[in-house]
Amino acid sequence: MSLEAASTLPEMIEVWQQTLNWQPTNEEQNQFQKLYELVIDANRYLNLTRITEPSEFWEKHLWDSLVGVAQKQQFMDGLNQGLSVIDIGTGAGFPGLPISLIFPNSQVTLLDSTRKKINFIDSVIDGLGIKNAQTVVGRVEEIGQEIKHRESYDLAVIRAVGSVSACAEYCLPLVKKGGLAVIYRGSFTEEEKQSLENSVNILGGKVELIEEFTTPLSHSIRHCLFLRKVKHTPVSFPRPVGIPKQKPL
Ligand code: SAM
Repeated sequence: MSLEAASTLPEMIEVWQQTLNWQPTNEEQNQFQKLYELVIDANRYLNLTRITEPSEFWEKHLWDSLVGVAQKQQFMDGLNQGLSVIDIGTGAGFPGLPISLIFPNSQVTLLDSTRKKINFIDSVIDGLGIKNAQTVVGRVEEIGQEIKHRESYDLAVIRAVGSVSACAEYCLPLVKKGGLAVIYRGSFTEEEKQSLENSVNILGGKVELIEEFTTPLSHSIRHCLFLRKVKHTPVSFPRPVGIPKQKPL
């Protein structure tokens, strides 16, 4: 399985170069290959991901994790210099682990409510010798109210954790004034745009940019929603555990 992945990696690198204008170093390529092997291995006993075929993994986990941040010079510059980043509901580590691998000067916090997923990520951090990533187990509704985390991050990223309004409520309280949240989506409708704008406004943010991407192999549509934090988030947000999901703003 690992050989198969290794043989598709050079092709994917060409695709990443064309679409993201970015060429991973040999060291980064080795790290990606090892990450793939660790995820596939752990997936035999943990329900981590349904994305296991090598080309799917390179596209839907790696390319997709990086498209929101690696395509923009402003992000590349900031992340290269060093930002504090939090990945909310990271699961098997996406998009946070690829971000930590290619931006060693940035500090990446990987948050998930499931202990076994965080245990897996801890083993990846150990196995790959990643120095700039740490994990937190908890519900984001509680973490977002803790002084240590609240309004402490330059960048929050979130992929596949809930509705756009719930994601905004999870992200924005953790972001510093002036910082950004990036919500990774598949499809994104006009109706969702309305509800996003409404919630972001309540949470002290504004919708700065909505970008649509086509994935390079399966040609599926993706969106990245960039939210700028312009004011402090009212202390009542995030609301208690479960409420952002049950009663989206
Ligand atoms: N972000 C990863 C990805 O795109 O591959 C994982 C997505 S998975 C569908 C959603 C993850 O969010 C799960 O690992 C779940 O445990 C976590 N999660 C859901 N609600 C959460 C909450 N309120 N606080 C923290 N983590 C949460």
